[in-house]
Amino acid sequence: NYTAVLAENRKLFNEVQDLRGNIRVYCRVRPFLPGQTKKQSTIEYIGENGEMIVANPAKPGKEGHRMFKFNKVFGPASTQAEVYSDTKPLIRSVLDGFNVCIFAYGQTGSGKTHTMSGPDGASEEDWGVNYRALNDLFTISQTRRSSITYEVGVQMVEIYNEQVRDLLSSDGTQKKLGILSTSQPNGLAVPDATMNPVRATSDVVELMDIGLKNRSMGSTALNERSSRSHSIVTIHVRGKDLKTGVPMHGNLHLVDLAGSERVDRSEVTGDRLKEAQHINKSLSALGDVIFALAQKSPHVPYRNSKLTQVLQSSLGGQAKTLMFVQLNPDSNSCLESLSTLKFAERVSGVELGAAKSSKEGRDVKELMEQVASLKDTISKKD
Ligand code: ADP
Ligand code: MG
Repeated sequence: NYTAVLAENRKLFNEVQDLRGNIRVYCRVRPFLPGQTKKQSTIEYIGENGEMIVANPAKPGKEGHRMFKFNKVFGPASTQAEVYSDTKPLIRSVLDGFNVCIFAYGQTGSGKTHTMSGPDGASEEDWGVNYRALNDLFTISQTRRSSITYEVGVQMVEIYNEQVRDLLSSDGTQKKLGILSTSQPNGLAVPDATMNPVRATSDVVELMDIGLKNRSMGSTALNERSSRSHSIVTIHVRGKDLKTGVPMHGNLHLVDLAGSERVDRSEVTGDRLKEAQHINKSLSALGDVIFALAQKSPHVPYRNSKLTQVLQSSLGGQAKTLMFVQLNPDSNSCLESLSTLKFAERVSGVELGAAKSSKEGRDVKELMEQVASLKDTISKKD
């Protein structure tokens, strides 16, 4: 009886929306790349209200189908502009003095850098979230210039093997940096990272190009430019009300996380294994922090990784968090995709339908009907 399951799903979903509060999770499925020959997609269905069905080719039929639910799912045809479209209010809130953190999470090659930065040397149309966000930041601050003046500064660091390094130091050396041990109200967690004042999007584009070049690159079987480091761009916004002189401060963290893929311990050793262990540890720590926040847990374990320490001011409290969960659609990536989705499901604090569906032996068609009526009920509510 799906009416009951549906009602249950909706109840869960609404509870999660309430709980989740300032945490939003968007999923983006990248297209198959030109030249990719065997195009079997693991994504069976994408709904308009954030529903998605994933099929595991190793388990044909009902056993292999799982449904996931996000605030939104962007399919392979979605443009950079569409993916960014709902992010503007978050940027506005930085200018209002809130802290915001935007992440891209997913396995190497799933499109994290594409979503955050866009392709190398992107034209405006291909700009990723970073440039669009900065562009909006400057545009909105201009519209307020008769009442508030803003100063904007940019830091860019990477975290590699649990060490924080400056990506913008003037001499090009990637100095190792310390993190302040308590959360700073001004968000300045890495005070020694080079801070560059910026006045326009073009200044930021220039800086990010330098930073991206400095970022550690290694090679894996999956992607020779794979990134084993987290890159964090921090935008500090300082405003002053011209009438009252009251100052405000907001910061925006834009984070391109290291690839989330599991490595086979039997295949890597030495440096590769160490990198993998550090990545694993920091991504789990991030998951634990967001999960604790979503659950409104009294203890949030920020101290378990450098990543969560650097981001502390923009995770929790009044801060707003947006995570882009990136997927490679290829059925060969199915297991990685499921592991990515399970991470996302955990941080958003809900498991929808999945286990139940397979136990009750419903097939995809039925699941789709369930999704269709779930959509219907949700849109009636809206
Ligand atoms: P990651 O940073 O997760 O390792 P990338 O962003 O480098 O992944 O993406 C891997 C490849 O897929 C790149 O060649 C990138 O240009 C391409 N790609 C990713 N997402 C898209 C997309 N939405 N549209 C077109 N190409 C994409
Ligand atoms: Mg990348």
